[in-house]
Amino acid sequence: MTEYRMCKRCVMDTSDPEITFDKNGVCNHCHTYDRLVREHIVDGEAGRQRLEKLVADIKRAGQGKQYDCVIGVSGGVDSTYVAYLVKKLGLRPLALHLDNGWDSELAVKNIEETLKRLEIDLYTEVLDWEEFRDIQSAFLKASTPDSEIPTDHAIVAILGNMAAKLGVKYILIGNNVRTETHLPSAWSEGHFDWKYIRELHKRFGTRPLKTFPHFGFFTYYMRMITQKRIAILDYVHYTKKEALRVLQEELGWRYYGGKHYESIYTRFYQGYILPVKFGYDKRRCHLSSLICSGEMTREQALEELEIPTYSPSMQEEDREYVAKKLGFSDEEFNTVMNAPKRSYWDYPSYGHFMEQPIIQAMIPSVKKVMALFQ
Ligand SMILES: [Zn+2]
Repeated sequence: MTEYRMCKRCVMDTSDPEITFDKNGVCNHCHTYDRLVREHIVDGEAGRQRLEKLVADIKRAGQGKQYDCVIGVSGGVDSTYVAYLVKKLGLRPLALHLDNGWDSELAVKNIEETLKRLEIDLYTEVLDWEEFRDIQSAFLKASTPDSEIPTDHAIVAILGNMAAKLGVKYILIGNNVRTETHLPSAWSEGHFDWKYIRELHKRFGTRPLKTFPHFGFFTYYMRMITQKRIAILDYVHYTKKEALRVLQEELGWRYYGGKHYESIYTRFYQGYILPVKFGYDKRRCHLSSLICSGEMTREQALEELEIPTYSPSMQEEDREYVAKKLGFSDEEFNTVMNAPKRSYWDYPSYGHFMEQPIIQAMIPSVKKVMALFQ
C-alpha cells in the first residue's frame, strides 16, 4: 500500500492514486496549474486586448443571426457568471440548460431569476427521464467513479447541437483554469467518450437509448474544427469571491451550499458516493485550485476539509431520495456501494483505441492539423 502523503503547496493527497510529488513535495497538479496559468491566463492590458478581439470576432461571426453565441447554464456560480459577463460585453447569447431530472428548486429559481434580469433567452432541454434513469443506474452498477459523465457528455452535446442548428460558431463555457485545475483523471474519466458511455449502458442498462444527446468520435473532431469552445473566464480576472458578490447583489442569485450542489444528484454523488465508496473528496481539488490562485490559504482549506461534505442528516435524506428515484431498493443500493471498484479502463472506450501505438504515432501530426483551425 502507498504511504499517505499530501502536497506541500495544495491539499491534494494520495487519494489520487496517480499523484506524483517533486523533490520539494509539490504535486503534479500544482505544476499543471502553473503551466496552464502560463499558457492560458493573460492579465492586465494584454488580457483586455485579447478579450476585446474575441468579442469583436464573436460579433462579426454572428452578424445577421438571432444569437451570436451559446452558453450553458446550470444555476451554479461559474456558468451564471459567464451569463453576466457575456451580457456585459454586449454579446447576444442563447442560454441552454439541461434538465436531467435532478435540479434543485433553488437552482431552477436561480436560472430563471438571473436570466430574466440579464434579458437572456433560455432554452431548456429535458432528458427522457426513463432513459436517463437507466443510464445513471447503469453507471452506478458499473462501479466506476464516473456517474456524472452522462450528464457532462449530454451538456456538451446539446451545446454543440444547438450551435450547429443556429449556425453559431462560438460556445462560451464556464470551465476555467483558476478554479478547476486539480481534478485527477482517475477520479473521473471519459467525458467525451461516447463509446464508453454506450458500452457501459449496453452491459448494465435495461432499455434501448433512443433520445439521449450524444456525439461520437468523428463529430467531436469535426466540431473542434467548425466550432469554438471558449473558456471565457480565463480572459478576465475571475475570482469566486467577486463572482459570488456580483451574483448575489446584482442578479438576485441565492447560494445553495457547495460547488455543484445545484443538483441533488451531484450533491449526493460528490458529497456521499465518491467519498464513502471511492475515498475521493472532490472538495480537495476545488480547494487546491483556490489555494494556487491565492483565493484561500492552505490552512483555511485544511480546516474546511475537517467539516463533513454536507450535513449527515441531509446525506441520509438524499440517500433515500436518490435510491428511490433511481428504482433501487435499500439492499440493491447497498450492493452498489459495496461492489468492487472499477475504472474507465475496465470497459471498452475510445481511450483504448487511442492507446494503440499506431494511433499514438499519429497524434503529433493530427495536433498540427487541428492547430491550423484554432
Ligand atoms: Zn499540489
